[in-house]
Amino acid sequence: MGALAAVIIVIVLAVSLSSGGGSDFQAAVSRVGGLKEGELHRLKVNELGAIMVLEYHVIGEEGRWSRTPENFRSDLDLLYNEGYRCIRLSDLASNHIGTEAGYTPVALTFDDSSPSQFRYIDQDGQQIIDPRCAVGVMEQFKKEHPDFNMTATFYVLPALFGQEEFIEKKLRFLVDNGYDIGNHTVNHPSLGNVDDATALEEITGNVSLVQKYLPNYQELSMALPNGSEPKNPALLTEGSQDGVQYHFVASLLVGANPAPAPCDRSFDPMRLPRVQALDPSLDSGNCGICAWLQYFMENPERRYRSDGDPGVVTVPKHMADRVDMNKLGDMKLRTY
Ligand SMILES: [Zn+2]
Repeated sequence: MGALAAVIIVIVLAVSLSSGGGSDFQAAVSRVGGLKEGELHRLKVNELGAIMVLEYHVIGEEGRWSRTPENFRSDLDLLYNEGYRCIRLSDLASNHIGTEAGYTPVALTFDDSSPSQFRYIDQDGQQIIDPRCAVGVMEQFKKEHPDFNMTATFYVLPALFGQEEFIEKKLRFLVDNGYDIGNHTVNHPSLGNVDDATALEEITGNVSLVQKYLPNYQELSMALPNGSEPKNPALLTEGSQDGVQYHFVASLLVGANPAPAPCDRSFDPMRLPRVQALDPSLDSGNCGICAWLQYFMENPERRYRSDGDPGVVTVPKHMADRVDMNKLGDMKLRTY
């Protein structure tokens, strides 16, 4: 056992400390949500900031309820470059936000299941997803930016994206590729104008419609047609009829502002507001996606920014009294 052996031992020790030792340390930091105070300031962490739930309808010609594929793509580019990352609507409702530290969660939603949202086209005898439909644009974006965590919820009507022969294939593709399907009733009535039995029929009818193709699929949320909630608010959460049941964690309004953070006193998952995705030239109320993105650039302290740890809610000290302790559940509150 000479000097050479001693040198080898030293080298082995040094290598194990610098590799295995380092990753253990990082794992420990992420376990305790241990961003240092300086980092929290630098990243402007604020888990009481507002979160946008974006609302899309048609992807086609530009219009009040429509976005071109190019403009939809540029919305995604803008969101990505401004530090937004997708989350599932159900994770927003239940405050399971695992967005990377310093980034802002955003939820994408599509109403009415028009063919423009999901279309197959023939290419040399093969059926491919139209690169100009919403799913085509999103799948391409996902390939280029895996860290965007692409996901969206489709609030469907009986049309189910048209193309009868592809309905099951489309619904399966969505759930197999990280997207969600939500309830938008059968006949699109304003639920505030119908009796309870009709409201229940409209909602369970939609559940059955989807389960006809995906037998065990449970929709977790609904988009209220015309933003109108049923006279009986209990129907928003759960119901059953003829053996068809539902239990929703969220329901969505039509407009026109970002949602409060899930632990904010004013957060109500059954009445979540949305921000409409439309061209600024058509945004007469100045409350669409571009207006709100601009607002958050000018008022960065109003924007939700994650601490990277879904088990900890981190908020600036001066805002702490806005936290609803009942909504924290098992999560820890950290102020700085
Ligand atoms: Zn609708």
